[in-house]
Amino acid sequence: MRPIGVHTSIAGGVHLSLERAYRLKCSAVQFFSHSPRTWSVRTIKDEEVERFQQLRRLYGFEHIFIHSSYLINLCSPDEEICRRSIEMMLFELKIADLLGVEYVVVHPGRSAGQSSIEAMEKIRNSLRIIYDRWKGRAGILLENTAGQKGDVSSTFPRIAEIATGFSDGLIKGICFDTAHAYQAGYDITTREGLTALQSEFKRYMPGYQVRLIHLNDSRAPFHSGLDRHEHIGKGTIGKDGFRVFLSCPFFRDIPLILETPKKTEDDDKRNLSVVKKLLGEID
Ligand SMILES: [Zn+2]
Ligand SMILES: [Zn+2]
Repeated sequence: MRPIGVHTSIAGGVHLSLERAYRLKCSAVQFFSHSPRTWSVRTIKDEEVERFQQLRRLYGFEHIFIHSSYLINLCSPDEEICRRSIEMMLFELKIADLLGVEYVVVHPGRSAGQSSIEAMEKIRNSLRIIYDRWKGRAGILLENTAGQKGDVSSTFPRIAEIATGFSDGLIKGICFDTAHAYQAGYDITTREGLTALQSEFKRYMPGYQVRLIHLNDSRAPFHSGLDRHEHIGKGTIGKDGFRVFLSCPFFRDIPLILETPKKTEDDDKRNLSVVKKLLGEID
């Protein structure tokens, strides 16, 4: 079965993200390396790193992803926020290297009132600075977003514009979020929709691969541009939609991470079992 897991909490130490994922019988995991909604970051202690490596070996995790801070906006019209976003992105990459994690997922930016040309120029300028300063091993996965107002990365042509020129090292691929794609107008619930998506991807993003799938159902309608996640099978994509999506050869064998609503770990357990059942019907 393909690698599958959930986004877990690092409360109590970054190594506990792996402990939580293991308890949920996950074979892949994603976490925030610090609170994603504050600029203040905490440094990870050496013993935490050690325990992280120990657990990683013990549980045999091969597919580990860091999701970067939600505050990062690499095209912010506010110079100070743009500068902080660049520093934060570099910080996320450093933590990834410290932990031996290969990929850091990022939502590249929101134009916040600027024209799309201005926003694109700014984002590429920020990435150029990061590219020049980053000498480590970890790299970025650009995540497709829902297309909410000012959102600059909801389609492959736009993501391609952002990524061009940074493929050798910094940008290592794409994180494909199913809810965001559906909300942005990619119909991933039909074979025709998936065929169109694949040809657009191949046309605009040659040399790039989808390295991670965020498997989320959507609480918002198709092409609504609203970013709302839902439990697998309970949203507008639905079980039938996921059956079609998960059997698409283009997306086969790519690790799946669920970012579905979570009040308790039981929610994760339920969503994981729904997906495993669907995969069992397909694989
Ligand atoms: Zn995300
Ligand atoms: Zn996502």
